[in-house]
Parts: sequence; C-alpha cells; structure tokens
Amino acid sequence: MRQLACLPANEKEINILSKFAELGLSKSILAALDEAGITEPTEIQQATIEQTLTGRDLLASAQTGSGKTAAFALPIIECLEEPAKKPRALVLAPTRELALQVEEEFKRFAKNSGLKTVTLYGGTGYDKQLNALRKNVDIIVATPGRLLDCVERKYADLSAIEILVLDEADRLLDLGFMPQIRKIISKIPKERQTLMFSATIDNRIQSIAREYMINPTVVKANIDRIDVASIEQRFMHVTEFSKDALLLKLIEEYKMTSVLVFTRTKRKATWAKDRLRDAGIIAEEIHSDISQNQRERTLLRYRNGAFPVLVATDVAARGLDIPTISHVINYDLPEVPEDYVHRIGRTGRAGRAGMAFSFVSEEQRFLVRDIQKLLGQQPEEDVVKKSAAARRFKSRSRRRVM
Ligand code: AMP
Repeated sequence: MRQLACLPANEKEINILSKFAELGLSKSILAALDEAGITEPTEIQQATIEQTLTGRDLLASAQTGSGKTAAFALPIIECLEEPAKKPRALVLAPTRELALQVEEEFKRFAKNSGLKTVTLYGGTGYDKQLNALRKNVDIIVATPGRLLDCVERKYADLSAIEILVLDEADRLLDLGFMPQIRKIISKIPKERQTLMFSATIDNRIQSIAREYMINPTVVKANIDRIDVASIEQRFMHVTEFSKDALLLKLIEEYKMTSVLVFTRTKRKATWAKDRLRDAGIIAEEIHSDISQNQRERTLLRYRNGAFPVLVATDVAARGLDIPTISHVINYDLPEVPEDYVHRIGRTGRAGRAGMAFSFVSEEQRFLVRDIQKLLGQQPEEDVVKKSAAARRFKSRSRRRVM
C-alpha cells in the first residue's frame, strides 16, 4: 500500500499511524496528524474517510466534538493533493466562529501540502478576505451570506469546485441560509462531490440530500454518548434567587480557571456577568447583541486564558472548541435536551476530563428527565450528587440546594 510504504521505519510510529494510513491517507497528512498529536481516528472519521476518498456523496449525522471537521478536511486535502489556480473545495458553515475553526483545522492538516485556505464571513471588512482570495486559494471556508456577496461581485470563482461541504447543515437551515445556499450551489459544477454533516438528520435535511446529492452514503454516528462519558455531570436544585450566589461559590470552591456559563437569554448573560464582576471575578459575555468583532476578540482572549469566566447564550457558544475549558455551568437549563449535550460538550474535549453543573429549578425537573433519557442514563434520583461546594453553601445560606 502506497501509504504504508511511506511510513517511518520506527515500528512504534507505524503502529500509531497505521489506523489513519489504513483509511487511505498519505504520508504528508499522517505527518501533520502526528504533529497535532492525533493518533486514533474517531468513530465518524473511521466511518467516513475511506468512503469520502472514493468520491461518493456523504450524509453524516455528527456533533461538534466528534472530530467531524477532520472527517471531511482530511479526505479533501488528500484529494486536492497540490495547489491549483482555482478553488476546488468549498465548505459552508453557519457562523463565523465555526468557519474560523474549520479553517484552523484545514491549516493544521494541510501544512505539508501547500494547499491554501481562505475564510469568508460577514460582519467585518472585505479587504483582508479579498486579498486572500486573489492568491490562488484551493479551499474556501465561508458563511453563505458573505460568500454569495463575493460571488455576485465576481471576487470568488466557484466554477472549478469539485467538493462541496455543508457543515452543521441543520444550523444553516435554522439560521435561514437556504436561499443563499441554493444560489451558491447554482454556481458550482453539477459534477461534484457533496458532503453534508448535521447534528440531526430530519425531514428537511433528507429533502436537501435528495435534491442535491447522488446516492449518498448515510452515516449516523452517536458520538455524544462517548464524549459525555468523560464529563462528570451534576444537577443542583435551586431557586432562581439562589443562582448567583451558587455560581460564585462553585467558581471559587472549584478554583475554576476556564469555565463557560450558559444562560437562556442575553439579558441573563449580562446579569450573571455583572454579578460575577461585582464579586471581583473577571467575566465576559458573548451573545448576539455583542458585535461579531467583539465576540471574536473576547473568544481569542478567553482561549488564551486572559480571563476565567465566559458567560454565553447557546447561539454564541455553539460549536466552540476550546480544549482548556474545564467546567460548564448551566445557570439556566436549556429547553431542548440536545442543547444540553451541545453545551456540556464544550468541556471534556480532546481526551480531557470535564465537569458540568446544572442549576435546576423545581419546574424544570422534567427537563432533567428528558436529558437523562437522551443520554441513556439512570433516573434522576440516582445521579443527583451533592457537591462539597453546594453542601457548604447550603449550610451557610440555608437555601435549598441538592
Ligand atoms: P470537531 O468535532 O471537528 O469540532 O473536533 C473537535 C476537536 O477534536 C478538534 O480540536 C479536533 O482537532 C480534535 N480531533 C479531531 N480528530 C481527532 C482525533 N482523531 N483524535 C483526537 N482529537 C481529534
């Protein structure tokens, strides 16, 4: 096999790399994976990379945290092989944050190939992105609105696209991008490979697959079960009134240095951030009322450990990939169990252990049961644990915390 012949002679290294080599990836990619410390394919990678290399369309259900980005980035890099004059791969992503993360993965894995990536997203000036577009890029990662703008102004040429990826397709639909996506697809050659990744494969996704894909392989990877196993989860029964004090207490007791706090509304995000600041804890907030530039700056600072607490709403924090996040606190429980999984999946990443605390008010108890049903866990009574922090807090404040 071509790939195995290229592998280093060292036996240990061959063992480590062989699983990716067996999927059909060549030496330069294996070296980049090795450098990134990635040794074992994840379930979604195992299930899709070989198929994708054959050129067949793919419809995959996979969550962030499953390694889905590499699942499409690796075969794309393999197929494109070397730089050319026009872009040949296009990835459409729902948010600027996700687009930047996808770009980062491409850059990491394509470092030995000379392939160039550009990322196009709205909410920021055109100059930098257009300059990058002029430099014979091979891979475009984009949010639909800005890309369509660039195509209509003839800045971006999609006439040579061979591989199209719709990443987080359900989010692309939720955010109303379908009209733009249709226009974009009309500019791409019909003879192409289409890959679609989505957290859920519902009727909408299936109908798009029927319209735009040819006989796709369908892969359903239930990755979140695996990810959730590395996260210790605690549900704490609280009153609305006791949340702020408990939040503060947990952060202090557990000496949290990188914690993501979720609130259900923007107003509450600001509220919680302000209460933390009042107590002398450096906290920032991200939600849709904060400009994209500001959000990006905040995320970069958070990623670099500049402050310990980030308070966020679901939309702003979805898909965040910051491996150092050690704790997630659900100041409010999400209404939908799937959102709970997305939230706590921001911790316990890249093989690290994580911890998630969820504040549960009396009327939200049913949500805990729904969550546990989704995760296939034991009934609530069996898993509710008392944390030392909560017990101490209870004894001092006499508020009811379980
Ligand atoms: P994703 O699901 O694409 O958001 O990826 C989540 C994180 O897992 C990213 O930081 C990836 O670089 C990392 N990752 C991807 N594939 C693997 C793998 N096979 N082993 C360990 N980490 C991986």
